[in-house]
Amino acid sequence: MAKNSTTKYVFVTGGVVSSLGKGIAASSLGLLLQKRGLKVQNIKFDPYLNVDPGTMNPFQHGEVFVLDDGSETDLDLGHYERFLDQSLGKGNNVTTGQIYHTIITRERRGDYLGATVQVIPHVTEEIKTRLRNLARFDDRPDVIIAEIGGTVGDIESLPFLEAIRQIGLEEGPRNVIYIHVTLVPYIRTAGEYKTKPTQHSVKELREIGIQPNILLCRSAQPLSDALRQKIGLFCSVPTTSVIAAQDVTTIYEVPLNLHEQALDDIVAKHFDWELPVPDLADWESMVQKIKSPQCRIKIGICGKYVHLKDAYKSIIEAFVHAGVASEAEVSLIWVSSEDIKQGGAEKFLQDIDGLLIPGGFGERGVEGKIEAIQYVRESKIPFLGICLGMQCAVIEFARNVCGMQDAHSYEFYRDLKHPVIHLMADQEGVTELGGTMRLGAYPCVLTEGTKSFEAYGVKEISERHRHRYEVNNAYRDMLVERGLVLAGLSPDGRLVEMTEIADHPWFVGVQFHPELKSRPTKPHPLFREFVRAAVRRHERSDGKSVGEVDQSEDVSTTTR
Ligand code: GLN
Repeated sequence: MAKNSTTKYVFVTGGVVSSLGKGIAASSLGLLLQKRGLKVQNIKFDPYLNVDPGTMNPFQHGEVFVLDDGSETDLDLGHYERFLDQSLGKGNNVTTGQIYHTIITRERRGDYLGATVQVIPHVTEEIKTRLRNLARFDDRPDVIIAEIGGTVGDIESLPFLEAIRQIGLEEGPRNVIYIHVTLVPYIRTAGEYKTKPTQHSVKELREIGIQPNILLCRSAQPLSDALRQKIGLFCSVPTTSVIAAQDVTTIYEVPLNLHEQALDDIVAKHFDWELPVPDLADWESMVQKIKSPQCRIKIGICGKYVHLKDAYKSIIEAFVHAGVASEAEVSLIWVSSEDIKQGGAEKFLQDIDGLLIPGGFGERGVEGKIEAIQYVRESKIPFLGICLGMQCAVIEFARNVCGMQDAHSYEFYRDLKHPVIHLMADQEGVTELGGTMRLGAYPCVLTEGTKSFEAYGVKEISERHRHRYEVNNAYRDMLVERGLVLAGLSPDGRLVEMTEIADHPWFVGVQFHPELKSRPTKPHPLFREFVRAAVRRHERSDGKSVGEVDQSEDVSTTTR
């Protein structure tokens, strides 16, 4: 590759329907180019008016992915970080809300000197600036892969499409490539794949002035050459650039599939890059392990949004990664905390090999979670509590071990006798909800001799946070006296970041979100060890060897 050449741009748009996996496509291409020696930055443009997804209901938007720098971002950033094993920052997720916020602040200051402020040029210029800012990093990327949220044809995404059209003109056709992800549905009654939605979607894109260079066609099965030819002809795309992105067993197979169809070669050729072949051996071995597990365990997840798996995206992925380390398939059994409250913990949890309680907000379902925790603590079932999950574990311990019957969190009740979870001092007086929690990466010092220390193998770690409440220090001594282990503290010793229980096979609570830092080829130490503990329990409980795959009925999401 020519040195000092300019940064190239890859734009990924989507057509026909949403949820086609544009984020996975953008991440997969990023991975392939990175494995061929390039510096890659991924960016996601989100066309909604929220400044960030931090204030959005997970039911609508899925998980909020928190970065090291504390920005609350779209869950696609999670895919980018996981596929590229790269930590991103604020500039990698731009929303319409941010763009308008900047422009309106400038307008109120009088910066526009009397001009009429308009979508074109002011909004489009700001979008282009945000994009080009990424190219100005000290460590300048060779390529920026920008994904435009939403579906072509949406009113909301028009300014972004106009901006990327202009970038194409300004940078020149050899410096920009447009990839359009579409759907080629199979119509069962006709026994045929249909190309018309793709044709219409490309037509819509061309009306805006963008001719895609590559089509990624999502389909249930591989597409025939004849079909690819037909799509290419109608959409003015060379047949070789009509790529079939068929359904796969695991999302981590997507890059391998795209590489087989030479997606990265097509991009390299377009940009006139001569690149070494990618070394995908690690990645292939990881995929192989996901596809051929040696055993199968069941982990219960007890939370509020169990019907919407996107709300727990990173947790699901972290289990896939941890499963690879144990060569286990982790079946996730989603249990509503409200069901537990009504039906009792044993009924729902007696079969599981481990329980995870994820983060959350609000009181609904909390009593069910506490009941579930009591059950696994007493039954010695491995447990991992994340954020609210850890707070519930502390409440449960205070109530049932320390005898403080009405122990609770100040988040839910204000006049408590035993507020064992309290508001953090620097959260007092905070009234605005957006971006005001304790957010992002903070250091934590581990206590030697704990399961957590054993898992990480180092004394100081850094993990990402998103919370307002914490263990109330007024209760520390009492809790510790009765056997709660403070496994990790903030370096100044003031915040309890991790708790454990000594006489239990594996019972860990963390105030931070380990799932956000798990990567497919580098499972997070806590998830890895939690799954190991669950595998050990599984082997013990039914005498099965790890070599045997349990073929019992698939109860819920399997992690692949
Ligand atoms: N609601 C709790 C807090 O704000 C926990 C937050 C979380 O689980 N992310 O402290």
